[in-house]
Formats: sequence, structure tokens, C-alpha cells
Amino acid sequence: MRGLPLSLKRRLLPAALLAAFGCAAPVRRAAPPPGALLVVNARFFPEKKGADALLARNGRIEAVGPRAELEARARRTGARVQDARGGFVLPGFHDAHIHLLSGALALGWADLSEVKTPEDAARVMADYGRAHPELEVLRGRGWTYDITPSGSFPSRRDLDAAVGGRPVVLESYDGHAYWLNSAALERAGIGPTDPDPPGTRIVREQDGRTPSGAFLDAEDFLFARLRMNPSRAEKLAAYESALRRLASLGYTSIDSIAWDEPNELELLATLEKRGKLPLRVSVSPQLDGDLDLYEALRARYRGPKLRFGWLKAFVDGVIESRTAYMVDPYPGGDDRGTPRYDPDRLRARVREARCRGFAVELHAVGDGAVRLSLDAFEQAHRACPAAPGAPLDRIEHIEVVHPDDLARFKALGVVASMQPYHAVPGDGDSDAGVWAQNLGPERLKRSFAWRDLSDAGAELAFGTDWPVMSPDPLRGLAVAATRRNENGMPPQGWHAAQALSLEEAVRAFTRGPARALGIADRLGSLEPGMLADLVILSPEADLGRPETLWRARAAFVAVGGESVARTEDVSP
Ligand SMILES: [Zn+2]
Repeated sequence: MRGLPLSLKRRLLPAALLAAFGCAAPVRRAAPPPGALLVVNARFFPEKKGADALLARNGRIEAVGPRAELEARARRTGARVQDARGGFVLPGFHDAHIHLLSGALALGWADLSEVKTPEDAARVMADYGRAHPELEVLRGRGWTYDITPSGSFPSRRDLDAAVGGRPVVLESYDGHAYWLNSAALERAGIGPTDPDPPGTRIVREQDGRTPSGAFLDAEDFLFARLRMNPSRAEKLAAYESALRRLASLGYTSIDSIAWDEPNELELLATLEKRGKLPLRVSVSPQLDGDLDLYEALRARYRGPKLRFGWLKAFVDGVIESRTAYMVDPYPGGDDRGTPRYDPDRLRARVREARCRGFAVELHAVGDGAVRLSLDAFEQAHRACPAAPGAPLDRIEHIEVVHPDDLARFKALGVVASMQPYHAVPGDGDSDAGVWAQNLGPERLKRSFAWRDLSDAGAELAFGTDWPVMSPDPLRGLAVAATRRNENGMPPQGWHAAQALSLEEAVRAFTRGPARALGIADRLGSLEPGMLADLVILSPEADLGRPETLWRARAAFVAVGGESVARTEDVSP
């Protein structure tokens, strides 16, 4: 049964009597004021001595303490009561690295993240096609490059027989490759005489001409040709369901990278006006953009819900394709990868952004790119002080960092923005795959070096990189604290010396991102005066045993004391 708010319980009898005698309703509102919430039967992590309840009013945390005391206080103005049933109450999760629009648009598509072969994918798409006779084009996402032998790509022919005449468009897990069937190629009007557009590779068949159906870095080109750019209404609908989904996972804040959607702030502002923006969202457009426009956006979007974030750029690629930029060569040669952003231009651009009051986030996977990024930040910081209230500069991913650079994060105040679930080990030998082989044994020991960075004083801000990886923060926390997968493999943990304590991992998913955003004075911890953004975990979560997080979920989520997701109805 749904619990009655405390204030209602108190007033029910007199109100009923008044009504029976035909008198006017009481002057005071029966409903509790907005943002007033009393959480009872709570466990805090880390433990708060003697406290099993939390009271929020006007969207802020008023007190954390013993239930009896807070109930007495709550009676004065009323508050909705939420029973945590002995579950853990944490600050709401904050995803520091998410691709909101790509994730949102892909929500209704076929999920190919588990397929092992092109035939598997064809089967999934055949089922999906049967389940969705209404769709003109069948979309899917999440296939990985290891479903075909190294250096080759899946072909249109793999899909043609299984799916029939409808166009099929399948995005790889990292969004860098597409796989189309023949009907989609036909719809796009792409044939043997089409040259590769700039920056895009059309994979060809044996004859060197006929498109095979695979495309690399082809998003803009393909979507224009396929006439599949989503409409504004489709984007709004996708955002809305994605935000609901993220809220149900325990998020109260996200930092979205608006790489492909310059209008993300405006679209989200439309949702906010409609009362359909449950989370706090920051939006980060490309570093290579119009700084005058960004200044205007930053001035317009600085509210409690929606704000301008960072300026984002890619300094390198990924380790799998040896496009990550390394300090030392990849095994078997002298190739270190090449920076994707010219270092001189990067330094100039980062400095310019800094001097105009912006903070920057740089995608740097290899230790060479991490070093270039730190160098660029160091120069920029020397040139100009930080603007008051500006976010902190950050580096994204940091799959490997050179020991000489560890201390520079703290010294420069640069945040290490990492996604722990990227490091989830497999059941087999996780050091055998192409990623691990390209790193080599020495660098493997300092890959996903959460422990080293944390010990060196770096602020960690965790995220998920959704839709590249699962958006569930509990999985990320479990991996961060155990370096094991959901089957408990490998038993000793994968390079377990780099694991964090769960307390450190929770901080990196809450207070760390708030510090990065420059708002840790009001967000990211459960202290009086802070915004009442919180998540109650289901009772399966035992934070003394991080492996229990694989089976746990968010049971109740509040932003500013208002419920935004609830998976369990409980009585007080
Ligand atoms: Zn990303």
C-alpha cells in the first residue's frame, strides 16, 4: 500500500469531520510542500552514527538523524514519507560521461551487444523484424568488431537472407562503424561508383568496388543518404524515455556529450518547460565550435536543472585499432599511434577556451594522449586563471596513464573522468584479446589505474559512456571495487591492485562529478544544506559485499526531494 504523507495522516480526521459538517476545507494545504521528503529505515554509506532517517525540505536536505527526531520535525510542515526498508541511501548517481542522444535514439532498437557471429546478428534482426512489422527500417546497435576475423567486417549478405526486403542499419558498439544490408544500400543509393566521402571509409568487396555493407566513420554521410535524420519530435520523445530510464537506474545528474547534437540544450530546455526533465543535465558541445555562441548558451543555461558543461575534443582514438596515442610504441614496432588533434592547435584552442572562461574535456585513451592533454591544460592554466564557478578541466577514459603523469592531475586540478565498466573482465583470459595484446604486459598493470590515480590525489569522476556500455551505475561500482565480472571472474580480480574501495567508487559516481562541475558545495553528498538528490538501493545491495550490486537496483530516486523514479511501493 502506498503510504500516506505524515501531514495527511495528521489532518485526516479533522478534515473529514469538517467536511461532514459542510464547512470549508482547511486553509492549510493537505499535500506536503514540494521537495519535502522524509526517508525512514535508511542505512547510510559510509555509516552515519545513530542516523536512520533523512529529512528534506524545499528541495534541500534539512537533517540526517534518528527517525523519531526527524518525524517530529516533519510533522510541523508535512513531508512525503519513503520507507527505505533497511536499504542503503546514497547521494543520487551522477554519470560524468554519457552520450544522451545516441543512447536515447537507440533505446527502441535491436540489441546486438551479445551477438558472437554475423549469423547471430542476422537471427536477432530476423526476430526483431517479425516483432516490428510497422517499422520501415530495422535498426540495431552494439555489435563488436570481434564477430568477424580481425581486419574484416560483416557483410550485407549476412543480413540479406534473414531479413528480406526491409532496410537494416546496424551501428557498432562504439558508433564508429555501420553495417547495412543490400536493401539499405539501395535506399541510400550507394553503389560501386561512389567514392569514399572525406573522413569515411566504404568497405568494398573482393572486386575493390562493390560496397560490402560495412562503413567506417560514416554517420553523417549515411544518415543524409538514408534520409533517416530523426525529427525534432522524435528526438524529444527519445530524450524523454531515456531520461526516465536513467532516473530509474538511480541517476539524479548526468553530463551529456552533445557531439552530434548542437541543439541538445535547446531540446532539453523544451522538455524542462513541459515538466519532463527529471534529472539535472549538463551538456558539452565540441571544442571546435563557435565560442561566441557557446558564451551565449552558457549565459542562458545555468539553472539548477540544465547547464552548459565542458567543451569536448578527441586527442586520440582507441587501443584496439592502435589509434590511441602512446608514450612508448605498440608491441612489435615503433608505431605509437598519432594524435587525432594536432598538438599545437590543441594547446592554442584549450588556452583560448580557458581564457574565455570555459572548461575542457579531452578524450585521451593512450598515455601519450593523456600527457598531451595535461600539457595543454598546464599551459592554459598558466595563461589564464579559472573563471569563478567554472567546471574543472577533465580527461576522458585514461585507459593507460604513464607513472610520471599521475601526480599532475592533482597539481593541475584536472579531473580523471573514467568509466569503470569499460574494464569489466571476461570469463576467460582478459589479457589475451587484441586490446590487451596492443598494450603489452607492462602497460596492462597500469591500465584503468583507478588506484594509482586516486593515491596520487586525482579527483575521479565516473560515468558509463552509454550507449557504448551499459548505463547501469551499479555494474560500474561492482567492477570498480572488485575488478571482477558478474560471474565473479576472474576470482583474484583482473589486475586487482587497481581496484578501489566501494566508498571511493561511490564518491567517484557522486561527489567526484559534482566537484568536476564546480557544484560540490550543493550536490553530491547527503549533508544538511545539500540538494536532496538521492537514491535508495533495493535490499539486495549489501555495500560491505560489492558483488551483491550485480543483483541490486535502484528502488527509489529523488531529485530535489521529489520522486523521479520508484520501482517499489512501500508503506511507511
Ligand atoms: Zn564516450
